[in-house]
Amino acid sequence: MSIERVPIIIRINTSEIEEQMCNKFADLWALKYKTIKGKPTTFISSNPFKHRPWQSAILRDTHPNKVIEKSRQLGMSEVGLSEVLHFLTTKENVKAMYIFPRNQQMVDFSKSRIKPVLQTPYFLDKVDKTMDSVTAKKILNNWLFMRSGWEGATGEGVDTDFLAIDEYDRMKDGVELSFQEGLSASKYGYMRRWSTPSIPGRGVNGAISKSDQMRYIWTCEHCGTKQFLTFDDNLIQVNPNGVNSATQEIADGTFIIGCKKCKKPINRMGIGEWVPMYPSIHEVRGYHISQLDAAWISADSIMRRRFSYSSKQLFHNYVIGEPFASEGIKITEADIKASIRLGREQVARTSAYTAIVAGIDWGDISYMCILGVKSNGVVDLLNLHSIQDDSKIPLKAVTYFCAILRSYQPNIVVADAGYGADKNSYGYTQFPAAWYSCYWTTSKDAHSKTRFIDQWNESSREVTVDKTLSIQRVLHSIKGHLIGLFPWCEKIAMFTQHLKNTVIMDEESDGLVYSRATRVGPDHYCCALAYGLIGVNKLTNYNINVNNSTSVEFI
Ligand SMILES: [Zn+2]
Repeated sequence: MSIERVPIIIRINTSEIEEQMCNKFADLWALKYKTIKGKPTTFISSNPFKHRPWQSAILRDTHPNKVIEKSRQLGMSEVGLSEVLHFLTTKENVKAMYIFPRNQQMVDFSKSRIKPVLQTPYFLDKVDKTMDSVTAKKILNNWLFMRSGWEGATGEGVDTDFLAIDEYDRMKDGVELSFQEGLSASKYGYMRRWSTPSIPGRGVNGAISKSDQMRYIWTCEHCGTKQFLTFDDNLIQVNPNGVNSATQEIADGTFIIGCKKCKKPINRMGIGEWVPMYPSIHEVRGYHISQLDAAWISADSIMRRRFSYSSKQLFHNYVIGEPFASEGIKITEADIKASIRLGREQVARTSAYTAIVAGIDWGDISYMCILGVKSNGVVDLLNLHSIQDDSKIPLKAVTYFCAILRSYQPNIVVADAGYGADKNSYGYTQFPAAWYSCYWTTSKDAHSKTRFIDQWNESSREVTVDKTLSIQRVLHSIKGHLIGLFPWCEKIAMFTQHLKNTVIMDEESDGLVYSRATRVGPDHYCCALAYGLIGVNKLTNYNINVNNSTSVEFI
């Protein structure tokens, strides 16, 4: 009896293993299937323009909550898109929501970036062509929805497994909050936010400060020092005569990206590694990456743009990927303490003041500033009040404030129109000669009428004011110690905090740089004071001169 020898053949199906790897790792999937403007994705290349080694780990990372603070031009929108498309082609019965700042950006991205990818052979049998619009795509049994965030994308009642937010700092504050319930019901619950930053503590910078803060670490090939790249440490001038101080022209090769220790060039065609600065934080995964890390962007080009940008803030945001705040009109505790000139709070009108003005910011908690104007034009803050709303007592806040105001006999009350229609109706009945509602505008047009002149409408009892200019007026007045304050107490401490939370930041729209008032925390007393100063301006007919904060001119 012979034993038949049967050869044992183990078939290794390499394409199947590759497929499994691609399903698991989004970066491998992108290399194989995802095109960028018709060309394949690359992460590591001898071509500096295609060498983006830091992208692949970000894309592979399946942490549920990722935040990326970045410069412009690093291809992170494509990374975001790759991850969403990988998710939608490798999972079942899932929904992804992709949010852009403006409708036009959403439409452009959908048409010029997403559509061409979905027309490649890999997607042909996966995309449902009968369910294909600019704002919705059906891929296998999954959905991709696109929305714009500024007009108020809301996620109430929306089931989402994957929320992607592009240019997070250009959205309304907290755009993601309404999606959180829907996300938490998902077994994935992925949230991805990425943006160039704006000012410290706001938007992507606020989010990344609560993360593990991954930094891309380069190892110097000359001295072995490990470091992440910063503008101050690593942008090094090697040609001392390379900058023409008159024209600010930079000769080629004047600057290098160099090691912070030995000052020799960092080889950005190499590969670094991501290292968390706060490894004990697990809730949020943060990445910071900038043009300093991009092999195809020279140090000279970075410095040239430093000179050419009209806004220092926007240079730091767009090129270095870092938040930036100009120190000029940031309010400090010292500013407040230097302004304390009253012995105590004033609880009623006195003969020292020729006019009384109140400013009110409505909200769940409403805030009121009461200002006294003397005959010589001096303005004092007489008192501050706040009150929590109560749904059982509809007009609680306005009746409370009106009761307080009676003892002051205010000449003008300027109240927030945005949140307080019914409250202001009641205010008109109580102080018909004094009460106005105020509408904010934010003008990008430097020549706009409302930008410099408050527009009063006496028949409708309304005033329309440029918000940025009005907030600047507040900050300059406090910074110039133009408003007398009562002694330090809990109220003044909160008032100070609200002023500190108010920041003027630069933004860009259609190539124009303009300023905008924003906040990095509660700013209600600052708004209330802005409303109050609008009233003071009406009485005095002269703006407090914001260009020269040491002088106040009154008729
Ligand atoms: Zn070195």
